[in-house]
Amino acid sequence: MSLNAESTAFRSALEVIRAVEPRVADAIGAELADQRESLKLIASENYASPATLLAMGNWFSDKYAEGTVGRRFYAGCQNVDTVEALAAEHARELFGAAHAYVQPHSGIDANLVAFWAILADRVESPALKKAQVRQVNELTEADWFALRRELGNQRMLGMSLDAGGHLTHGFRPNISGKMFDQRSYGTDPATGLIDYDKVAEAAREFKPLILVAGYSAYPRKVNFRIMREIADSVGATFMVDMAHFAGLVAGKVFTGDFDPVPHAHIVTTTTHKSLRGPRGGMVLCGPELADQVDRGCPMVLGGPLPHVMAAKAVALAEARRPDFADYAQRIVDNAQALAEGLTGRGAKLVTGGTDNHLVLIDVTGYGLTGRQAEQALLDSGIVTNRNAVPQDPNGAWYTSGIRIGTPALTSRGLGTAEMDATAELIHTVLTQTTSGESKAKYVLDPALADKVSKQASELLTGFPLYPGVDLG
Ligand code: PLP
Repeated sequence: MSLNAESTAFRSALEVIRAVEPRVADAIGAELADQRESLKLIASENYASPATLLAMGNWFSDKYAEGTVGRRFYAGCQNVDTVEALAAEHARELFGAAHAYVQPHSGIDANLVAFWAILADRVESPALKKAQVRQVNELTEADWFALRRELGNQRMLGMSLDAGGHLTHGFRPNISGKMFDQRSYGTDPATGLIDYDKVAEAAREFKPLILVAGYSAYPRKVNFRIMREIADSVGATFMVDMAHFAGLVAGKVFTGDFDPVPHAHIVTTTTHKSLRGPRGGMVLCGPELADQVDRGCPMVLGGPLPHVMAAKAVALAEARRPDFADYAQRIVDNAQALAEGLTGRGAKLVTGGTDNHLVLIDVTGYGLTGRQAEQALLDSGIVTNRNAVPQDPNGAWYTSGIRIGTPALTSRGLGTAEMDATAELIHTVLTQTTSGESKAKYVLDPALADKVSKQASELLTGFPLYPGVDLG
């Protein structure tokens, strides 16, 4: 029997790799096996298509291509130009953006490109010019302080980490926390929702240069029209990091006030989460910021990754197909079914539910920390991650929440009935787990964990991952 194209491609690739370093070929095969078996509910992960994966494994990886399409610092970039221009065109068309920069290697990098573009656009500063020609990592804490002072101690207002914001929005572990004088807005303690009046108040008091919207763990829509009005009222540049929900924007689930592209001055994203592309980032903006954004490499980025840009072009072409809109809607339907399944069984959810791709369970209701719950679920074949909840009593390490997302399982074809079954499995594990002698320790009967693991794999049997790929 002849093999299909996908199986032939991946088998042949592994055979070629195995001839050089068999342990790498084995690890790649094992990774597929593991992913096939696990109930993957990590909100930031997905399964890229075979075409997207294959577009990355080739000789584009060998090419240097600093610069932009048609303006390179290296000769012989005509084929890189083709894929970069295609990826940018698909991105512009898909999101209705005037300009797309598809070189960022990740979401963090896309945000750095945006921050520097905004600073360069908004601030006239000799110190900034100096910083732009020096290696950023050569600047000391004192340099940054001097630079901030000269730049006018530029301010950023973003969502707080425990309300679901991301550390690249001005928090210490990321350089944005050193570059900017940061203040954050949280959520209403009673509802868990963004209180736009409070954001406006903070903006009036703080007068930020940049107002950032976007999140990693907020289970609701954000009204970007209102956020833009707030930014305009204080003369701030409005930036949206749509890393998590780009797939929902692409699939037209988030439209009107909830589509960031018409409202923000600049939008950043990853390409590998709900958008289901290769691991990477992207920046969208209007013509005013385009020149600065295009200086991303070498300003803050290493040389472009042409093989990843080729894969971005493939994934974005896929996202422009009508069936992607159906996929995006199913992501949200599934998240809502999961939320209903959990609340119906007594779980406490941050904001009480969801209108995007993720659900945040407050596991204090089960007498557990996020760390204990995450491990107990993992023992039971359910892959999630712990996450802080607003005003988290257990801090950012142990946390009190479990974040669950549906993009990956929706890619496998699971639907609302399976989400209810998933809610049952999660609830069973969390009710049967008890807290141990520390915030990391817990007690769960191994026989129960085993039983749930089997049920989780049974749930997946009707939904094979990469059904066209048979590694033999
Ligand atoms: N922005 C947001 C909102 C994110 O959730 C993440 C990743 O989790 C990032 C940026 C960073 O993306 P990356 O891991 O690709 O650098």
